[in-house]
Amino acid sequence: MMKSIKRWACILLTLVLLTGSVCVSVTAANAPKKFRAACADGALVLRWNAVAGAESYVLLKQNARGEWIRKNGASPTSTTFTDAKVKDAHSYNYRVYAVVNGNKGAAAALKATYLAPPQITKFVNRANGIQLKWKRCAAAAQYTLYRLNTRGAWERIATLGAGTRSYLDRNVTGGTKYTYTLRQTSGSTVSAFKKNGFRHVFVSPVTGLTVKNSPKGVILRWNAVAEAKTYEVLRKVPGGSWTTVKTVKRTTTQMVDAAAPYGKKCFYLVRALRPNNVGANGTVEAVFAVDPTKPMIALTYDDGPYRPTTNQVLDVLEKYNARATFFVVGNRLATYSDCLAREASLGCEIGCHTYNHTTLTSASDTTIANEIANTNALIAQYSGQTPRLLRAPGGAINSRVQSVVGYPLIQWSVDTRDWEHRNTQTTINHVKTHASDGAIVLMHDIHAPTANAAEGVVSYLVGQGYQLVTVSEMMDAKGITMQNGSVYYRAG
Ligand code: ZN
Repeated sequence: MMKSIKRWACILLTLVLLTGSVCVSVTAANAPKKFRAACADGALVLRWNAVAGAESYVLLKQNARGEWIRKNGASPTSTTFTDAKVKDAHSYNYRVYAVVNGNKGAAAALKATYLAPPQITKFVNRANGIQLKWKRCAAAAQYTLYRLNTRGAWERIATLGAGTRSYLDRNVTGGTKYTYTLRQTSGSTVSAFKKNGFRHVFVSPVTGLTVKNSPKGVILRWNAVAEAKTYEVLRKVPGGSWTTVKTVKRTTTQMVDAAAPYGKKCFYLVRALRPNNVGANGTVEAVFAVDPTKPMIALTYDDGPYRPTTNQVLDVLEKYNARATFFVVGNRLATYSDCLAREASLGCEIGCHTYNHTTLTSASDTTIANEIANTNALIAQYSGQTPRLLRAPGGAINSRVQSVVGYPLIQWSVDTRDWEHRNTQTTINHVKTHASDGAIVLMHDIHAPTANAAEGVVSYLVGQGYQLVTVSEMMDAKGITMQNGSVYYRAG
């Protein structure tokens, strides 16, 4: 009896144990909860919540052939996995399940898209800020631009549409290093911050550039830029492209261009440089380059403008790439404003010849001041030039006039007396006889015989090798600094 009880107990125990073991094998572990992915810089970081009793996890990734490959064999107990085998805008299928008591639990599935931090490919210093350019990201619906603030934190500075490829950050200071990063967004996925970001030092534009002729060549001067290591001086002629003339040390803020294309209008630009970093373009300045080693003459025309004759003179000047100085009468300017604009566009200089052709020696100080101010305001309005010169009507000057005019007084060394004889050939012959380096020739562009003489005068002088320049260009090229109230008859 005892034996049979024992046997039954043994069978029951065996059944209980068997039933128990069957029970464990059919109650599989739950799938890991909150299986999710986030973009890092160069990887997708997968995470899931821990499963009670799990001794390990199996993370699988589907390959291109649809096979599921285990990825987390190296750290099977972790609830996170960093997948660095990812490409921008690509989606990947993952599964993860827990192993409890050696048994495989239910799998959680995830499809995740990797978005890489966009690459900033170019920084350009603009006069008004840093321009950033970046590569297009295939899946981006939006870009967000961040800049590292002074506390070392990323600060959002702009949110930009998918079609945007560049941004101008105006909020910059010269010599300061800025660090940027971009993030792209597609659906609910957002890329990470780029580790260390992209760095750039803003190099300010050179300001205060001036160019002028001198006895040595074209002199350039500019204001120092604190962050410059060197300066690059560039030049171009109309229709040409910018070429580097010279690169000078940071301690230098001027240079002489002795190889300027003489006889042509040329433009100059100076930029501050740092290694691998070109400073922003500053203002471009133009000059008509005069060869100081070759002879030059300043033709001057008074009493205009008058449209028919002034244009005839300008046609000839334009044909020979020559320039002249026009001393204009203020009360004519509104009527012939187009003439002033054309004179300026051809590089001619416009000086004051008073508003009413007033004899200054018999005018009051107040009248003199008004005659000059009213005329110069109109010259500036119609030509864009700031007048630098005054020619007294009839050449009538005295010490009182000199002390009140506030401008250099330009007389002449060659008087054609064209207003008196009104003879074309006489004017031409007079210039031919009296031409010399540094001469100032007096003519009047309101008379038809003088306008008719322009071709003969200009072609002769150009043929003789004279550079036909403005009064200011000639004084600069000869190294003469004109003083207000001083009287000039010629240059040198
Ligand atoms: Zn006059």
